[in-house]
Amino acid sequence: MRVHHVDCARMLEIEPADGPDSPLRPAHAVGHVLIVETESSGLVLVDAGIGAGDIADPSGRLMDDWVEMTRPALDPATTAKAQVEALGLSPSDVRHIVVTHLHRDHAGGLSDFPDAAVHLFEAERADGGKTPAQLAHGPKWVTYDSGPGDHWNGFDGVRPLDGVAEDVLLIPLHGHTPGHAGVAVRYGDRWLLHAGDAYMYHGEVDRPEPAGHPLMDLVQASGEVDREQRLAGVARLRELVLDPGGGVEVFSAHDPWEFARYA
Ligand SMILES: [Zn+2]
Repeated sequence: MRVHHVDCARMLEIEPADGPDSPLRPAHAVGHVLIVETESSGLVLVDAGIGAGDIADPSGRLMDDWVEMTRPALDPATTAKAQVEALGLSPSDVRHIVVTHLHRDHAGGLSDFPDAAVHLFEAERADGGKTPAQLAHGPKWVTYDSGPGDHWNGFDGVRPLDGVAEDVLLIPLHGHTPGHAGVAVRYGDRWLLHAGDAYMYHGEVDRPEPAGHPLMDLVQASGEVDREQRLAGVARLRELVLDPGGGVEVFSAHDPWEFARYA
């Protein structure tokens, strides 16, 4: 099994908020996507980024006000499909896509893989009316009820993916959207946990007293549906991050400094 970390939604440049002594430099926000090569289930994507359809018709699919605000690169070479091809892999081998949620910068690439099974919580599918253009092709949904599920690293209601033999888990991290999920992928003797937009800045999870980011906090506040629920999930993520021996590596969708650890 191999995991590739790619940026499928490069957006506006942001400053680190860790103070003047921070070694971090300003960087473009990313759309962190995983391309997972599995033994028996083909290619599995975690999130789909901005897709070819969005780049061809930004006004119709992304909407002018959103483009104005986030300034996406809209570079055809950054779609998940183009980056699968750039790795020498075949887009037709993408059989499964797990989405953290259905916002346009995470779901736009779904239409580039119309035959893939798209895994998500049912609550998220039911809420997906906000991105009708990205879903107009009719994704092959595989939905999971919230509620009873497995216990995994402090989370309940965790669901292994149907039809995927490898360890890929859908983890309830609701609050940013009603059915928002984290996605855990077992990678050797550890786990990668893609936390989507549960948080948007590493300062929220990498220190005992969380530190926000002026711009990313604003973006989160403008979109989140249940702050209390989101923060409960973030508290558990923080425990995982602050336990480096715990074997779980956590990262979010848009933080460029987390992405830089892998890219
Ligand atoms: Zn997002």
